[in-house]
Amino acid sequence: MASHPFPDSARAVIIGGGVIGCSVAYHLTKLGWRDVVLLEQGRLTCGTTWHAAGLVGQLRAHQNMTRLVQYSASLYQTLEAETGQATGWKQCGSVLVARTPERVTLFRRIHAAARAQGVACEIISIAEAATKYPVMRTDDLLGALWLPDDAKVNPADVTQALARGARMNGARIFEQTRVTAIQHKNGSATGVATSRGDINSEVVINCAGQWAKAVGRLAGVTVPLHSAEHMYIVTGKIDGVHPDLPVLRDPDGYIYVKEEVGGLLMGGFEPVAKPWGADGVPESFEFGMLPDDWDQFQVLMENALVRLPSLETAEIKTFMNGPESFTPDNNFIMGEAPELKNFFVAAGFNSIGIASGGGAGRALAEWIVQGEPTLDLWPVDIRRFARFHGNDHVLKDRVSEVLGLHYMMPWPNRELMSARPLRRSPLYDRLAAQHALFGSKMGWERPNFFAPTQHDARIDYSWGRQNWFPYVAAEHKATREAVTIADLTSFSKFLLSGRDAEAALQYLCANDVAVPVGQTVYTGLLNARGTYESDLTVARLGADRFMLVTGTAQATRDADWIRRNLPDGKHATLTDITSAYAVIAVMGPRARDLVARLTKAPLDNAAFAFGAIREIGIGDATVLASRRTYVGELGWELYLPTEYAAGVYDALMEAGSAFGARNCGYYAIESLRLEKGYRAWGRELTPDYNPYEAGLSFTVKPDKGDFLGRDALIAAKAKPPARRLLSFVATSPDTPIAHGGELILRNGEPVGDLTSAAYGHTVGGIVALGYAATGGARVDDAWLAARFEIDIAGERVPVRASLKALYDPAGARLERVQEKWEPVFRSDAGQIKNLERDDDSKKSYPALKA
Ligand SMILES: Cc1cc2nc3c(=O)[nH]c(=O)nc-3n(C[C@H](O)[C@H](O)[C@H](O)COP(=O)(O)OP(=O)(O)OC[C@H]3O[C@@H](n4cnc5c(N)ncnc54)[C@H](O)[C@@H]3O)c2cc1C
Repeated sequence: MASHPFPDSARAVIIGGGVIGCSVAYHLTKLGWRDVVLLEQGRLTCGTTWHAAGLVGQLRAHQNMTRLVQYSASLYQTLEAETGQATGWKQCGSVLVARTPERVTLFRRIHAAARAQGVACEIISIAEAATKYPVMRTDDLLGALWLPDDAKVNPADVTQALARGARMNGARIFEQTRVTAIQHKNGSATGVATSRGDINSEVVINCAGQWAKAVGRLAGVTVPLHSAEHMYIVTGKIDGVHPDLPVLRDPDGYIYVKEEVGGLLMGGFEPVAKPWGADGVPESFEFGMLPDDWDQFQVLMENALVRLPSLETAEIKTFMNGPESFTPDNNFIMGEAPELKNFFVAAGFNSIGIASGGGAGRALAEWIVQGEPTLDLWPVDIRRFARFHGNDHVLKDRVSEVLGLHYMMPWPNRELMSARPLRRSPLYDRLAAQHALFGSKMGWERPNFFAPTQHDARIDYSWGRQNWFPYVAAEHKATREAVTIADLTSFSKFLLSGRDAEAALQYLCANDVAVPVGQTVYTGLLNARGTYESDLTVARLGADRFMLVTGTAQATRDADWIRRNLPDGKHATLTDITSAYAVIAVMGPRARDLVARLTKAPLDNAAFAFGAIREIGIGDATVLASRRTYVGELGWELYLPTEYAAGVYDALMEAGSAFGARNCGYYAIESLRLEKGYRAWGRELTPDYNPYEAGLSFTVKPDKGDFLGRDALIAAKAKPPARRLLSFVATSPDTPIAHGGELILRNGEPVGDLTSAAYGHTVGGIVALGYAATGGARVDDAWLAARFEIDIAGERVPVRASLKALYDPAGARLERVQEKWEPVFRSDAGQIKNLERDDDSKKSYPALKA
């Protein structure tokens, strides 16, 4: 217990004395915020931290998440020297073993990804794995991986060391002090009420672990997490087990194993987890444990006995069943709450809080001190969620699936199945009746593809061509050759209105949005570093009224960014109109013919140019038609009040039968947009990249006057970009399938990884985008002519790199023509002969992102 008097004010108040709260305190003080108070309702580590297994596995799916753990690792190695408190750090490495061929393929992919991310990683033989882990049975194994930098720590000691480091720099820590209310004024947190008195503060930071949802609710803030039971056993001494043994992970058997005092600690992530605390996590759960549950543990034990036969006779000294919190997507939650300024959250660590704790603490401290994150943290950003994610019923349903994801195969395009269907467009039933296979994004059910029969409306996951390949090929082809209809209702839509709406948008947007009424503009929203916070389409509907259309996943984030950055004193109000409007896209060279059947409005280029938005009649409905598509074809996106959606869809499908119209799902949209080189938020466009690196300089108008990010952009433009987004194509007939994340090599050296990849059915091969490090070189034809390859699960696939899109409807840059499509796409002439088409894509940039 601290000897300090209890304060009535502090610059920052941190709620929760687990590894995360202590790490945030440590890093805030390192950044010079010395007036930091940490409040813990029990004693430090008494929540979840004390019983963690302490594994520090470094390689994560996302580069920046790996960086966080790499930083944790370097910090935990030096904390003892700095604070005098040991951390139990031991760099023992880890062995991963594969029981299935698919897992072996995954290991090859991980091996390449590790190279891209700068993590040491080796594919090793089964014999080498056996040497590293002699007590393991290996005769049933197919492959193994060795990560020499992985480590283990003592979680309680790490936390105490962080707390000590924070105290050494001025932080004050109060145990046995519960926060009972969050004080706020004018939309901003101003302090906390506690069991010992009130504290005013500039910022409040919710690091309350599995209690963070309840603490968030005190402030009206959604922190979507739910507890699940997580179990491990610890055995007595076992022959052959020694402290230098690496960590063992057998993900096909759902288990992890580490040495503990000459015995083994064995736990895991069973496929169907056991939710806990549905009626609320008890306030008083200091160093709490749950009863043993051997039934729930059985699947782990059975698999462990396969891998570690000596467990059969080992003494079980401890059965640890500790609850911890999981989030709807198995990524943790960080950032400033969109509902309340100066209220920050770092919680929901899904079993990687020890490994991520150092890095996450530093990243949040930087976010607090600098006012925004210093790197792309979108996978863990609190703004990827919306209010509905806080629904207890949904969370409980989802958590039983989430825990198992740790070791489940991370298939490309894997969809979660729990808590669905949640948000349904007005067309949902119609599309389902046509055998749509739905994916889920931001809770919305969205058609991925349309199968010929209900039986085929499924995904058979694999690393190669999945079962839906021919269905998507047909949708892709129909979009390029005829016309398709796509339900894009899930797009986030806002109305910005008020007499200063134009001025406000001019400040927020890098492009010039002071356009005439009836015009749309594609633009980035940049931060002060000149990198992307979002990209969206601005449609001017009136002198003081703009519709903003942005990606499905960006609703909370973009609204938050816009509201926070609206220039002071400007009269402009943002309203989310997502649920008020359905969106139906009509895309393809016959789009005009089709829409013309249902409207009297002129649709020719003179009357309805690319980029225009007009109110027109479609059958009985009055809709806003915007001439843009995300696929590089002629087309319109129709925005209509939801109650008209079904009627308009039926009319389009009926009239479209004359033109070969069919439904189009998101998988086809993905391959279409990649052929056209259209960028997507969260992959090609993130806070790590600026428009020059992304090849979108044409969307930046530095001469229009001041705007957010302008100074940084001007500075960035003065020097060649350190990395450049490139399009890649590989068209050999036996090319394997790329899914994104693959390592890019230039002249045999790693230069980056793919941000997106798909099979492009028009070019007949892999189409991908990815950033390549330039080393300061000018990216010209000579530079691009180097030997480029991508590493697909260990196979080096030659690719061509290009600054320009791989596909152009006018044929000028059509890379390859599939023979069967020859009547439409003529490779010889590079011209499309039998269809008169509008080359919208040449002028265009996407209206919207998938
Ligand atoms: C069995 C098991 C094994 C694990 N193994 C690993 C592993 O090997 N590697 C790894 O990286 N992670 C592991 N984890 C996960 C890891 O333990 C957690 O991610 C991490 O401890 C979370 O830390 P935290 O600080 O967010 O939460 P906590 O440690 O729970 O801290 C939150 C604190 O907030 C306090 N608090 C709550 N409400 C209030 C309030 N109103 N006022 C004041 N204080 C409050 C609580 O008392 C608690 O101490 C494991 C978890 C379990 C259950």
